[in-house]
Amino acid sequence: MIRINLKKKISQRVVNGHPWIFNNEVDIIDSEVKGGEIAEVYTHDKKFVGTGYVNPRSQIIVRLLSREKNVEINEQFFYDRLIQCWEYRKKLGYIQNCRLVFGEADSLPQLIIDKFNNYFVIQTLALGIDVWKPAIVAAINRIFKPAGIYERNDVPVRELEGLSQQKGFLSEPFDTKITINENGLKFQVDVENGQKTGFFLDQQDNRRTIQHIVKGADVLGAFTYTGTFEIHAAHYGARSVLGLDISENAVQQAAKNAELNNVQNICRFQTANAFDVLKQWSREDKRYDVVMLDPPAFTKSRETLQKAITGYKEINLRGMKLIKPGGFLVTSSCTNLVSPVLFQQVIEMAAKDARRRIRQVAFHTQSPDHPVIWGMENTHYLKFLIVQVI
Ligand code: SAH
Repeated sequence: MIRINLKKKISQRVVNGHPWIFNNEVDIIDSEVKGGEIAEVYTHDKKFVGTGYVNPRSQIIVRLLSREKNVEINEQFFYDRLIQCWEYRKKLGYIQNCRLVFGEADSLPQLIIDKFNNYFVIQTLALGIDVWKPAIVAAINRIFKPAGIYERNDVPVRELEGLSQQKGFLSEPFDTKITINENGLKFQVDVENGQKTGFFLDQQDNRRTIQHIVKGADVLGAFTYTGTFEIHAAHYGARSVLGLDISENAVQQAAKNAELNNVQNICRFQTANAFDVLKQWSREDKRYDVVMLDPPAFTKSRETLQKAITGYKEINLRGMKLIKPGGFLVTSSCTNLVSPVLFQQVIEMAAKDARRRIRQVAFHTQSPDHPVIWGMENTHYLKFLIVQVI
């Protein structure tokens, strides 16, 4: 077994539970290490820290899989971990559709598995987990007898690990447009060509929180993707709903989903750049009872964090200006570098510039099938805020 020793002066981060070890935190590697191999990690004074997978090409040289001594990383290990993940979701009632595995938060670093009915979509985002793909697929087959498994590894982050971008079936081919049920509504999930794994499960609970504020309301939703929030709004009794997305494909899918739920007369969708349109409409004195914003992550790096903050401020400022007095802003941020407190500050600045007073109605995060690990900031990534705009 390869042994890796941590430097004397490394932060308590790893010992306290963080699963990542950076290459400048490592002192001695006792043999030539190949990417994807399993190693045991020890402190400088030889205390066992954990077992993980190695990639000398990555800045994160080790990602820990286990803190227990003498654990063998093999097919059974992944089966046992997946069982634990499934038990947790079942316990919390996330049975039909859920994020079955949320990487680091499930002690399976860089592994994502989304479950849609009995179909599974997998992402293996680091070399050390990618080599275990056959074991992970075997575990899914054993536990679920799935209708199908699809790989969505067409993500640039894999290249940092020396992995290619790819997607395709990990089971017999199947129709990759799957219809799921969420909160009593139907949505088509395109696991082959949709964004990320095809559907944003992390907002599944938040979509219900708009139930009362949209009743009888004229609703504007920007960054609509497959129209989930907008179709919920129509279902909960909105008078009119308009959803905007820059992607023509998304708008078509959203319109199809509206038809699936028989709300096409209330819900319209339009291809547009939300930044341009919201600005223009506030000048034209268009007004809505509820404005909903759910933009994509604006940055993944600290260097461009300021730009992301400017983006959030801009879009929320424009959104608030469009809201009738006493109406509501429903606003999200999935950029993990923007902390919940920072997000609140940005909204506060936007309100100031829009010359509106706001009251917090609800402030949530992602659904618990994406658990948050304290001390691992990037697991607490989603901010979902409802404010009344006075
Ligand atoms: N609300 C959705 C998820 C939105 S994902 C849900 O719950 O499923 C973000 C969406 O914003 C993507 O569909 C992307 O196409 C869209 N988008 C990105 N930039 C945009 C822009 N400038 N204007 C409008 N839409 C944009």
